[in-house]
Amino acid sequence: MAKRDYYEILGIGRDADEDSIKKAYRRMAVKYHPDKNPGNKAAEESFKEATEAYEILKDSQKRQIYDTYGHDGLRGGGAGGFNGFAGFDLSDALRAFMRDFGGFGFDDIFDFGSSRSRRSGPPKGQDLQVKLGLTLEEIASGVEKTIKIKRLEACGNCSGSGAAPGSSKSTCPTCGGQGQVRRVSKTLFGQFVNVQPCPNCGGAGSVIDHKCRECGGSGVTKGESTIKVKIPEGVAAGNYLTVRGSGNFGHNGGTPGDVIVIIDEVDHEHFTRRGDDIICEVPLSFSQAVLGAEIEIPTLDKKTSLKVPSGTQSGKVFMLKNKGIPHLNSYGRGNQLVRVVVWTPTKLSQEEKELFRKLSSFDGEKPPGANKSFFEKLRQTLGV
Ligand SMILES: [Zn+2]
Ligand SMILES: [Zn+2]
Repeated sequence: MAKRDYYEILGIGRDADEDSIKKAYRRMAVKYHPDKNPGNKAAEESFKEATEAYEILKDSQKRQIYDTYGHDGLRGGGAGGFNGFAGFDLSDALRAFMRDFGGFGFDDIFDFGSSRSRRSGPPKGQDLQVKLGLTLEEIASGVEKTIKIKRLEACGNCSGSGAAPGSSKSTCPTCGGQGQVRRVSKTLFGQFVNVQPCPNCGGAGSVIDHKCRECGGSGVTKGESTIKVKIPEGVAAGNYLTVRGSGNFGHNGGTPGDVIVIIDEVDHEHFTRRGDDIICEVPLSFSQAVLGAEIEIPTLDKKTSLKVPSGTQSGKVFMLKNKGIPHLNSYGRGNQLVRVVVWTPTKLSQEEKELFRKLSSFDGEKPPGANKSFFEKLRQTLGV
């Protein structure tokens, strides 16, 4: 099937500015987000398609290539020297969405959105967000975590009804027992009728004659609960998991809210993460750098050894293949980059000082003059 035009996908004109692109994409992404359309393949495709269009059009360089050469321009080795763009899989798309909208997208997607889409009946309980800090080791191996949640639970005395046990209820005067009210709003585009849960009875259709003493009529108490979550290997800060039905109690028979677990990364004593690669710095003594050595290297599972050849310069980066973080939702894993740094001794004995003096009297190989090659090389190795 021919690829659809990116502007057409987002429903915008070819002259749309950055802000309209962002808004258009957000609208599509919220509508087709897999969390709102579980098991819906067509929605998933639309979500991926919209994300791909957004990723290209928000980037002025890529957009220009696309404007000039179309989809062909964005394929590998195409015009403009742009490196191949193979399209998105779902996890890329979810990540891209979280990256740009994770901070303020939650209300729309999970809370406001879901209660808005259920116009009648009691509202869903509130969603709760918790941050879960994980070490790089936990991220590399995948882990099951038990998390404590502070939430609102049904009051034990009135089973969440808010009414004193044995007391009666009467029809709500505001909605006449309907549980919902209609609001008419007039706008430039015409008249809209909104159906909302009744503000007086919260959608129940009835009001309480005598309030429960324990909860003062609210039907809820503060409680604590624990949930278990299985974290797949390869997650990154900002990824999230939804635990359905573990959030706040839903009033008047509404479904309970969800718990949204947002992944955070704990700083590691040895490693810095970069994508799915990890980077560490290892000290090397003068003699090890000069003569070569086998040194011990920490990795995310067990220690390993690295052969450093003789004549290794300070700052050289070695790569340990497949010792990084596993890719999320696909095979393979990143690499570990080890930067060796020659360590200069500071407390020398008389004898050691003597030996260094002797060494310095030799007319050996002299270091080259100042240059900028080191940073260039590091940049190349790290692909920055
Ligand atoms: Zn109660
Ligand atoms: Zn009412």
